[in-house]
Amino acid sequence: MTGALAARLARSQGRVAQLTSLLAPALVTGPIDETFRKAELSWNGRRSCLLLSFDVDFPEDCDALPRVVESLSSHGVVASFAAVGRWVEEFPDDHRAIVEGGHELVNHSYSHPELVNAPGRFVSRRSDLNECRWEHLSLYERRTEISRCQQVVEAILGVQMRGFRAPHFGNVDPLPLYPILAAEGFVYSTSMLSPRGSRFGLPVIEQGVVEIPVTTCPRHPLSSLDTWHAFYARDGWHREGFEQILEAQLQRAVRTGGITNIYLDPKDTERFDFDHFLAHAVALGDDCWIATYSEFADWFKVQQGEVA
Ligand SMILES: [Zn+2]
Repeated sequence: MTGALAARLARSQGRVAQLTSLLAPALVTGPIDETFRKAELSWNGRRSCLLLSFDVDFPEDCDALPRVVESLSSHGVVASFAAVGRWVEEFPDDHRAIVEGGHELVNHSYSHPELVNAPGRFVSRRSDLNECRWEHLSLYERRTEISRCQQVVEAILGVQMRGFRAPHFGNVDPLPLYPILAAEGFVYSTSMLSPRGSRFGLPVIEQGVVEIPVTTCPRHPLSSLDTWHAFYARDGWHREGFEQILEAQLQRAVRTGGITNIYLDPKDTERFDFDHFLAHAVALGDDCWIATYSEFADWFKVQQGEVA
């Protein structure tokens, strides 16, 4: 099978693509790796790049923030946190710890539509979650979700966020959002899985907005490499040794000259050896540029000849 055909399969959302990745992950990971190899990019002078983020989706994630920020500080790692406006209102001090730790906040909508308590997976202590699907909101409603989150974070934390991550972005087509994001002054979005990106893992500039694709699991390459995939989806694909999967991904990025763009749920960082993973990333030294999304997007725009 050619790389182009595998790429087409990966982009399609049907069962065929799912089956292909289950039977032969290399059909999808191969073309992604090849894209990075051929691009021969140097990420701010480094061989690879780690963009580490956290999605603060549930109140239980807010509870975990002080511990996560402390771990990052102890390793000297910077990260980006996708914040939900209503939780910033309710848990301002936990979110302030992110800013005071020198990390970045990312707009993740005001109410995080499509947040569901799923029995057997994760059930929050809160039942007043917004289960309405993001894709069912009108563009006006989506823009309101984005701008309201922006206003709340600015009022409470004094921070103007520069990027956006769509709720449940794995199922979302971000294309209609770029005009809104550009109009609202956003510099970047990270709302697309790498097999679906038009450059297959490489960042792109869409209507002035840098889209930074999210890395998928090397073993299940149509699934985002995140804690949901590891611990909840189908009872968890990587319940043991998830840090080893993450570390293998970092090594893969060094080998191919690629990016690792992943998000973890703060509440689930206790379920694997999070500190081991951070230490591994830091030990890559000059082989891996660890950056916030803002740092990355500004660098990327300059690199692409656009003014940051
Ligand atoms: Zn996996």
